[in-house]
Amino acid sequence: MGRKKGLSGIPVCSCCNEPAVVYHRHSRRSLCSTHFTSDVEERVFLAMEKNQMVRAGDRIAVALSGGKDSTALLLLLSRHLPKWEDVSLVAITVDEGIRGYRDETIRAAERVASHAGVEHSIISFRDLFSDNLDTLLEGREEQACTVCGILRNKALTQGAKNSGSTKIATGHNLDDEAQSVLMNVLRGDLPRLVRNSALETSGCFLPRIKPLAEISEKEVASYLFVNGMFLDLPECPYTRYALRADVRSMLSGLEQRNPGTMLRLVESKKKIEKYLGGAPVSAPLRRCRQCSDPCSGDLCQVCMLRQSLGR
Ligand SMILES: [Zn+2]
Ligand SMILES: [Zn+2]
Repeated sequence: MGRKKGLSGIPVCSCCNEPAVVYHRHSRRSLCSTHFTSDVEERVFLAMEKNQMVRAGDRIAVALSGGKDSTALLLLLSRHLPKWEDVSLVAITVDEGIRGYRDETIRAAERVASHAGVEHSIISFRDLFSDNLDTLLEGREEQACTVCGILRNKALTQGAKNSGSTKIATGHNLDDEAQSVLMNVLRGDLPRLVRNSALETSGCFLPRIKPLAEISEKEVASYLFVNGMFLDLPECPYTRYALRADVRSMLSGLEQRNPGTMLRLVESKKKIEKYLGGAPVSAPLRRCRQCSDPCSGDLCQVCMLRQSLGR
């Protein structure tokens, strides 16, 4: 099927005759800004419904880094909020303390939260762990993403608990999800590959939801662009140390040549989960001997990390 063209030869929307702003290679559709926006929103809320992500009485803590994904997520959820019964939102920003990156993204997060009319709170590494990330990482920069990931997770959970939330929503998109599947395979980490944090039933962790998991990075950027919310912000200076950076460029090359690659990768993870019959692969839950947070071993990841950092 060729692309539909208007009289002037410019591609037009597959649903109406307005000029197309987006061409979706995988489904071979061209969409105008109105139809693209409603297409993204419909797919997000359909996935949320299908996976029962939100229930009446939920207070959702939206992890708002101030970057593209979390900005799109907050915008989408706040637009949909009136349609849910008895659901509230709060945006949580974690200030890791990263020079040349975090100050600007915090200002962006504040602007987005106020634009969306959502309550906003900031929680910092300095308050929680008595130092900022830059200081904690001195001499071990190559471990940045692991260290930051563990501490950020703890900070986010703490911020969500402080605000009385019942769930945490993160802006992970299709690209992130596909990268994670491949990274877990490359590391041989089967428990992590099949872990589904939305199905948390032990009551020890706050359930996590990922409403954008079926929307690609490109679509997220286009969604912000056509809604006048596109941001050009500095990238985290530590990403160059991560395995994710290599996996990301490899996968985007594959996706370019074989549209639908990332979607199929994420679906293969779901199939593996199904074969396992939803059985948990990880060890039974215990309590950390130092902070009594739920964990799988003797010490939780945060306490183990603090020990290795000598703090
Ligand atoms: Zn249209
Ligand atoms: Zn602990």
